[in-house]
Amino acid sequence: MMNRLLMIVLMLLAQHVWVQAQTDFPQDYFRAPVDFRMLLSGTFGELRSNHLHSGIDIKTGGAAGKPLLAVADGYVSRVSVSAGGFGKAVYIDHPNGYTSVYGHCDRFADSLARWVRAEQYRLESFAVNLFPEPGQFKIKKGQMIAFSGNSGSSGGPHLHFELRTTADEIPVNPLLFGFDIRDFTRPTMQRMKIYPVGNNSFVRGRNKITEFALAGWGLDYRLKDGDTISLAGTFYFGIDAYDRLNDSDNKNGVFAVRLVVDSTEQYSHRMQQFSFDESRYINSMIDYEDFSRRKVRFQKTYIAPGNKLSVYETTTNRGLVYFNDGKLHRLQYVVEDANCNASVLTFYVQAAVPDFRIAMQMTVNPKPVRVFEWDTDNEFLAENFRLELPRGTLYDTLSFTFSQSPAGKSFYTPLYKVHHVGVPMHDYGKIYLKPQQLPASHKSKALVVQVPPKGDLISVGGKWEDGWLVASIRSFGNYSVVIDSVAPSIAAVNIANGKNVSGQKNITFRIHDALSGIADYRGTINDKWILMDYDAKNKLLVYTIDARMPKGSSLLKLEVTDERGNKKTYQAKLVR
Ligand SMILES: [Zn+2]
Repeated sequence: MMNRLLMIVLMLLAQHVWVQAQTDFPQDYFRAPVDFRMLLSGTFGELRSNHLHSGIDIKTGGAAGKPLLAVADGYVSRVSVSAGGFGKAVYIDHPNGYTSVYGHCDRFADSLARWVRAEQYRLESFAVNLFPEPGQFKIKKGQMIAFSGNSGSSGGPHLHFELRTTADEIPVNPLLFGFDIRDFTRPTMQRMKIYPVGNNSFVRGRNKITEFALAGWGLDYRLKDGDTISLAGTFYFGIDAYDRLNDSDNKNGVFAVRLVVDSTEQYSHRMQQFSFDESRYINSMIDYEDFSRRKVRFQKTYIAPGNKLSVYETTTNRGLVYFNDGKLHRLQYVVEDANCNASVLTFYVQAAVPDFRIAMQMTVNPKPVRVFEWDTDNEFLAENFRLELPRGTLYDTLSFTFSQSPAGKSFYTPLYKVHHVGVPMHDYGKIYLKPQQLPASHKSKALVVQVPPKGDLISVGGKWEDGWLVASIRSFGNYSVVIDSVAPSIAAVNIANGKNVSGQKNITFRIHDALSGIADYRGTINDKWILMDYDAKNKLLVYTIDARMPKGSSLLKLEVTDERGNKKTYQAKLVR
């Protein structure tokens, strides 16, 4: 038994090595982007919110300010600064056809920092996306280009590092380029799910998605309660797994998943590369319904017809498996990391013949108001309500549900229940709402909001078209209309009117808008624009005091405007 299992595993590993060798990535070309040992808090292809992780996250000891080094000769092709996303990021083009990317930097080095700052002043904008001339910033391998940080939408100090093909901007898994990143640890499998398809499929006699606890480890994972499951009908499977690397506790994403039924591979995917366009298909790859409820990501073997993700390799019957022959079948789930460490879950399926008399008794839950096909445009109309879903919005045929209920005092339409949040949308749809009791004076302040069961309202904005308030939405759920007539708040953290600031390095504000969100901000000293770093996640605006604040008395002004045009102004006389 064990010998046979081992043989199958060795065969699968041999296949893995063969495929990887074929792809021929340069192994000795790039040096490390840091001068200390690389430990990872994120792997390539890791399952993230609405996207697959497009690089690796290198730990920086929990602190900012570590020198970042060019991984090879080249030139700076792009520098971007933004309040979210990668924050401060450097892109270097290399002669071998790859571009390296260094994200969430604290600051840029030397001449690059001076040039970016001059451009920010020229454009009067903190957020910039700059493309220097190829000869402008030539870089040598190992040259310091920036300091690591926590800028943009980073959840703690680290370096987000990417390798992309320069020509097509396709991110490729950096772990396939021979970096010295040690990983001798097999992936961990946490639990498995079996999904019956349709009303005529049964897991242990029940037409119900069933979760299985796992025991064992490494090549010897098994079901906790008995090794055989009775299945009748059509199914797909899901696995919740993660990978640890050496000397680090972080639970990172796995590289490859495959499902083998009776020694035949039925499903597999590998996180070698994907385009940014397809990254959002993650929502179809995972059990999105379960994710929206428990924040757990099961990777499914089922490939929905509208799912165009390119990381899939074996996709027999779109990952669906039929069991109706009365025989015993052996199934193996194989999960691998990029360093070819594999874990294997083995279990057995006793195929039974589906009992259609039970199927006949099944009740169909919430009655759909309409069936939407995944490969066409879809539209739904109700009183004072319209929904348009262009082709490309849905992954699968949808039994669409819709209802409305009174929404409460601060809302200007009923609460529209537009299907439910457990079904993902790929592209944007359009929602049209016609508020009935909205005073004309409040029209410009009205906005469409998603109303979650608990927590804050989520603004999706909206524009007026022929008496309809129209907004783009990328999520099903509950929607209504509110007004935002409240200006953003500005709190001065370390100044007050009349203060002498000669003893401090910077001037810091906390800015916030509760509903529609901050659209714009503008800081000036004596009516001249000043550069203020905006850190959206911490709601901080920071001006580093420099020569633009002259000796003597100055007038500092800050204006912050929200998405509905409500404006707040702060001003103070400061002495230096
Ligand atoms: Zn990252």
